[in-house]
Formats: sequence, C-alpha cells, structure tokens
Amino acid sequence: MAIPTKEELGFDPDALREKYRIERDKRLRTDANEQYQEIKEEYAAFLDDPYIAHPTSRSPLTDEVEVAIIGGGFGGLIAGARLRELGFEDIRIIEKGGDFGGTWYWNRYPGAACDTEAYIYLPLLEELDYVPSQKYAHAPEILSHSQNIAKKYNLYENACLETEVTALNWDEPASRWIIQTNRDDNFKARFVIMSNGPLHRPKLPGIEGINSFRGHTFHTSRWDYGYTGGDSNGRLNGLKNKRVAIIGTGATAVQCTPHVGESAKQLYVFQRTPSSIDVRANRKTDPHWASQLKPGWQKERMENFNILCSGGVVEEDLVKDGWTEIIRNLISMANYRGENTNWDEVPKLMEIADFQKMEQIRNRAAELVNDSKTAESLKPYYRQFCKRPCFHDSYLQTFNRPSVELVDTNGKGVERITNNGVLAGGKEYEVDCIIFATGFEVGTSYVRRSGYDVTGRHGMTLSEKWADGMRTLHGVMTNGFPNLFIISNSQAGFTTNFPHAMDETSRHIGYMLKQCEKERLSSIEASKEAEDEWVDEIIAVSRFASDFQESCTPGYYNNEGKPNPKSVQNGPYGKGSRPYFRITAAWRKEGNMSGILKSP
Ligand code: NDP
Repeated sequence: MAIPTKEELGFDPDALREKYRIERDKRLRTDANEQYQEIKEEYAAFLDDPYIAHPTSRSPLTDEVEVAIIGGGFGGLIAGARLRELGFEDIRIIEKGGDFGGTWYWNRYPGAACDTEAYIYLPLLEELDYVPSQKYAHAPEILSHSQNIAKKYNLYENACLETEVTALNWDEPASRWIIQTNRDDNFKARFVIMSNGPLHRPKLPGIEGINSFRGHTFHTSRWDYGYTGGDSNGRLNGLKNKRVAIIGTGATAVQCTPHVGESAKQLYVFQRTPSSIDVRANRKTDPHWASQLKPGWQKERMENFNILCSGGVVEEDLVKDGWTEIIRNLISMANYRGENTNWDEVPKLMEIADFQKMEQIRNRAAELVNDSKTAESLKPYYRQFCKRPCFHDSYLQTFNRPSVELVDTNGKGVERITNNGVLAGGKEYEVDCIIFATGFEVGTSYVRRSGYDVTGRHGMTLSEKWADGMRTLHGVMTNGFPNLFIISNSQAGFTTNFPHAMDETSRHIGYMLKQCEKERLSSIEASKEAEDEWVDEIIAVSRFASDFQESCTPGYYNNEGKPNPKSVQNGPYGKGSRPYFRITAAWRKEGNMSGILKSP
C-alpha cells in the first residue's frame, strides 16, 4: 500500500508531527512523576471514606483462614467466586472500603459509567443471570452488581470491610501468612491472593496552598454528595449557588463535568492537556436481544472483543464500539496482512491512520463547540494511545453553556491554590468549591500503592526483591514468597477489558490451589529458575517502545514524559493477552505445575 500524499490526506503529516512535538515539549517537566504529592499527613482527609457515616467497630481478629484475598474490587470478587466454585469454603476478603466494588465503590462521581461495554466488562453476568440495563452501565448499577456477586458467592461471610492491610509476613515454621491490619487484626492465612488494583490511590497536584483554601474541596474518588446534593445520575442541587472549579480533564473529569456544568452557578474547568473525546452512543439494552442470548454468550463476546483488540480477525465484531473501531482502523490502514507487505511502511501507515483518527476527533470538537477559541483549546495534539481515549456525547457541548468556562493553561497546569480559589495563567479564579479530578498514583512503588510490604522467606521483603523490577512466574507467583498469588497486569496478560484478564488469572490461581489440595502440599512457590526464565521472556518480547513513549505528551502512560526503563520488565506479556492465556492454559493442562517448588 503506497503512503498517501498530503493532498490525498487533506493534512500535512510532517506539520502535524511537528505540532505534536511542540505540544509535548510545552508539557515536559523535569520533576515528571514527582510533580504529584502523596495524599498523607496534612492531606490525609482527602482519603476519608465519605460513603460510611460511622465506621463499624469490631474486635481484632486472631484466627486462621484458608484463603485471604486482599482487595474486594473486581479482581478479589472474581477470585472469590472462582474459588467458591472449586469448593473452597474458608475465604476472607479484606477490603479498605465499606463494601465490595473497588473502583466502583470509590468512584461515585456524577456520570460515572464504564467505558468498556458492560456486557463484557461486568464480571460473571451469566453466573448471576443478569444483563446490564445499558451498553455502558452507570456506576450505581456496577456497584450493585459487585454486591450481588458477593452475595451470590457468600463473600460477605467472614469478610473484613473497612480494613486496610498494614503488613503481610510469612511464618516459616507454621507455613502460614500473618496478616496485620489497621484494625489491629493479626490473623493467619494459608494462601494469600493480592488484588490491590492498579489505580486506587488518589493523587493531588504538587502545588501550594491546597490546605489554605477556605472553601470546600474533595477528590473525585471521594465525591461529597453531602455538599453537592443530588446523586450520581441527578442534578446536583447543592451547587446551584456555587462557583466550582474542576482541576483536570482526564477520563473522570470528562464524565463528571457535564453534570457539574448543568448544576453549578459557575464552573471553571482547568485544563492542562485535552483528552480525545469520541462518540459514546450509549443505549438501553434491547430486551429481545437479551432474551435470545445463548449459554456461553459472555465468554464468546469477551473473546471476540479481545481478538479484535489484539489485532486478530473475527467474522463479526460483536461489540462494535470505539475501542474495536480504533484498533480495526489502525490495523486495516496499515494493511500489514497484504501479501506484498512492505514492513518498513507499516509504522508510517499506522501513524497516518492515527493522524486521521485524531483529525476526526479534533473536527468533532470544532463541530460541537460554538466558541472557536474554546474549540481549539479542546483539540488534542498527540497520538491517540499516548493517553486514554475518552468517549462522551455531552462533555464538549458543556462548554457552550454560558456558565461554564474552559481555563486553558496552555500545558502548564494550575499554579497554586489561594485562600479564595485557583491561580492559573497569573489570574485568580474565585470559587466556593474545588474538585480535584487529578487521577491516581501510577508508577510509584508497589508497596507505596498497596499500603503494606510483604515479608517472605528469610526476612526478604517484596520491596527489596523487586527494587530493580518485578520478578515473577507468569505474573502470579514470586520466588521466596510461598502460597502468595498476585492478580495484576504486570508480567501477565493485558487487555483493555481488565476483568477478562482477572478471570483468567483467578482460574489459574484456583487450579494451583486445587493442585495443593490434591497433592497434599503445604506450600508452593515459583522456582528461581522458572522465574528467571519468565522474566527473560518478558524482557525479550516486550513491546515497550521507548521512542513512541518519548514522543508522547506526558501522562501516566509514559511516566509523565520520562519513560521508565523498568516498564520493559514490569510491563505486561508483550505478545499479548491471547498468547499469554494460551501459555497459562497449556501449563495447567500439563498438570505437573512445572517451575513450582512443592513442599509436602
Ligand atoms: P488522569 O490521570 O487521567 O487525569 C488527571 C488529570 O489531571 C489530567 O487531565 C491532568 O492533566 C490533570 N492535572 C494534573 N495536574 C494538574 C495541574 N497541576 N493542573 C491542571 N491539571 C492537572 O485521571 P482520571 O481520574 O481522569 O483517570 C484515571 C484513569 O482511570 C483513566 O485513565 C482510566 O483508566 C480510569 N477511568 C476509567 C473510567 C471508565 O472506565 N469509565 C472513567 C474514569 C477513569 P495532564 O493530562 O496534562 O497530565
């Protein structure tokens, strides 16, 4: 396929590439990921749980369970469900929130909804005989589905909610993990599954004055409905006489801005980098379609989506949404399956496909936003996967409201918070309320994000062991830490549809636990050799493209503009989730847990 000319394209790729570089350079900062401040000490109140009126009191636990699962989000729920199906009865889930749901427990901001189609994103739909009410279900429905999973699989029994793990220590003589928590628990578990979640520690920008602000303030993941009034779908009546600032324009801000915009007396949205906003086209579930679904439909749909998103071919795109469209277009434009593929041209064609998609996104902003200066500010100038693509049908139009103003900080961000409001571009914007839509920690250490360290055999901590990068077998077990299992994307299969990968990992862990039962093993552990081999494989097949990352505008995908060399080792399995799922399935089929050290 010949590279199209700029006349054929209607834009000049060289000029766009240069524009992307200029926009990136404006945003590069030497402090990269250090620009954010950890929420602790004087900022600790930002972490308070607004969804429980009074913390439940209970006595510290000193008992023993067979399986402890850390995290009651989707990962913990799926693992709990799969283990129950295998007959495990003595399970305890430990969760810092007041209920199950993880992300969906915390993120209740108005407009919160899933971005991946609900029919493939919500776990265990067939098991619960449930079909979501919309293609992109809203947060309350997802939270309630999470609670229903916990009820169906009896996971409330023995659970420790409102509880944070503070330490996990291996007791060698007893062959047990000792779990300590902020509730003074000190109990034992034979097996521990860590499903801490990738994005759960809110972060604040490292600017001065946050605590000097005299008005009201909160982070989007701790939405204060007591102040704003309303609920996640309704009008926020408490804001009708309020001037509000939203700081940040990522996926969260995109979903909540229209609701704040329609309710507040005045809304200022402080933007450092615009998101790409594509069509959402949410719709109610067709009851006829739902009634015709055949057993196995969810797995088939999940796989169909995953094949397409991995660049594979399927007869029919069942999900047909922004994600499958983006990836299909990139791949078909590059046409690399043609018989006479010129491999040198593939990256150039992919870049052109990306330019075309982003031109479409920029034109959409121009069409939907009345004021041309504001529309220009809302146009993203970077490759689509430099940041998370967003999909929304009323975010851009919100800036047509006379009461809503986009404050374009030209890549510099908010300068400081004053007693009365927000300072940006040398101008003070007086407000009554500041909402931080500034995201979550990524790229900080595993221990800092988890909130606890793990001490394995011979006093070795996980933070020491992973100081130079993660070391695991299949991303699930790590040598020196027996009977400990990890659910995460790192060194494992990554898919846009996270719960799909969580389910595969949960089945994998379930298999190992069942093998322990069958073979009467007291503990299992990844051997050093198997782990070394897996880490070498992860590095060898890594698709971490540092030049692509460097060319991107800063964000959490590229460690705020300073691509982390550790991302090669800490990243997912580079050949993709489908080959990864095949590897772990074949390993299970072999039946002897190769690479695992077994203690009777
Ligand atoms: P992000 O990290 O994506 O966004 C943070 C925002 O804060 C960015 O716009 C950032 O600007 C901005 N920011 C940071 N510091 C400053 C500053 N000093 N001044 C002005 N702006 C600043 O967080 P989100 O919570 O939006 O999203 C995090 C992730 O959560 C998403 O990427 C997605 O994976 C997930 N998510 C999923 C949803 C779904 O599935 N429905 C919905 C919402 C979130 P800049 O871009 O310049 O860094």
